[in-house]
Order: sequence, then C-alpha cells, then structure tokens
Amino acid sequence: MWDLVKDILYPPACAHCGKSVTRLGDWCPQCFADLYDGKALASSVKGVQAIWSVAHYSGGVRSLIHDIKFNKKKELGKSLTPFLERFSFLWQREGKRLPWDYVVPIPVSESRRQARGYNQVDVIFKPWVENNGLVWLDCLHKWDTASDMWKLTGRERLANMKGAFSLKDEYKKTFQEGRSHILLVDDIYTTGATLAEAASVLKGGPVICDALVIGGSR
Ligand SMILES: [Zn+2]
Repeated sequence: MWDLVKDILYPPACAHCGKSVTRLGDWCPQCFADLYDGKALASSVKGVQAIWSVAHYSGGVRSLIHDIKFNKKKELGKSLTPFLERFSFLWQREGKRLPWDYVVPIPVSESRRQARGYNQVDVIFKPWVENNGLVWLDCLHKWDTASDMWKLTGRERLANMKGAFSLKDEYKKTFQEGRSHILLVDDIYTTGATLAEAASVLKGGPVICDALVIGGSR
C-alpha cells in the first residue's frame, strides 16, 4: 500500500533524464542505451591483466553512485545491475563462459562501513554475482588510510594505498592450491592505485586478476 502511495507522490523517474519509468530504479530505454558503455580500459595497472567498465561515469550513473555512497541510498544499487547484466550477457553471447573462480570486492575500512552502513561495492555487485552463479569472496580487509583519497594526486594516492589491504586470516589458504582467476570489483576506476594494491595482496598466491568497475572517472 505504502509503495503505491509513494509511487503517486513520487512517481518513479529515470535517474538520467527524469522521464517517468515503470519502477523505481529503472532507466528509460534511450538513457540506458546511451549510458551503457561496456569496454576494456587500457590497463597499465600492475598485477591486473584486464579492466572493464560498463557505463559512462556521468549524469544519472554518477549521481546514483554518489547517492549510494554518501546519501545512504542503498536501494539504488539495483539500478546499476542492468549494466552488469548486459556486460555478462554480451560476454556469454560470444560463446565464452564467465571465467572467474572468485569475485573479490574492494573493501571499505571498518569505520567507513559503520558510518555508511554497508560497502557500496557489495550493494552494487553482489546481486549480479549471485544471478550469474559466480562466487563472492569478501577476503580483503581495508585498514584506515591516513587521508581521504579524493584530496590526493595520483602519486600521493599510490603512496597512500601502500599497505591499505590485507588478506583476512580465514582466506590465507584459499589461493594456495591451483591457479585462481579473480575478478576484482569496484565502483569507480580513477588512477588504478586501489586495484594495484588489492592485486598485490592477492598475488601472494597463484592468481590471475582482472577487474570490473561501473565507470572510469578520469
Ligand atoms: Zn532517461
């Protein structure tokens, strides 16, 4: 009942253009077509073999990610699922299976998680991982870094990320047997410092790392 009242008071609108849509979190077909941008980013990130992004980091996509991270709008995570679904659909349509043994989310620090109530990466990627029969492995721990990343230059970010992650004790043996193909997932790609540091921690074992992000912001 409340949902119905809410729909009348606040009719669901496309997050990009504001046109009315059927359900909260939907995109109008035109905006979805405009914003979907599945592509390989040129990867010079140490330890990461390939990086893909799925959307233009602009307009509705940018404001959604901002709302999920800073305005506690966890429920908007599902608006990004269609981009990920399209990415995996196109991948599989070429006859390839999704090759990853584990999907590893880039974590937030415990203090950040408590303040925010969740890790936005979980909110954005977990439904897609489950829909596609992939294995979610929340195996990295993030220490509190000294400075907020957004204030820093590229070189400062690299320095700031050194030692930011560690492998949780209970996963120390996970990557010892055979080679594991890992997909690191993160909301936004900027300098690659975060992905490089996460990969360096995982590379303690026999692993290949790829990465998937929603959008690149540089
Ligand atoms: Zn639209």
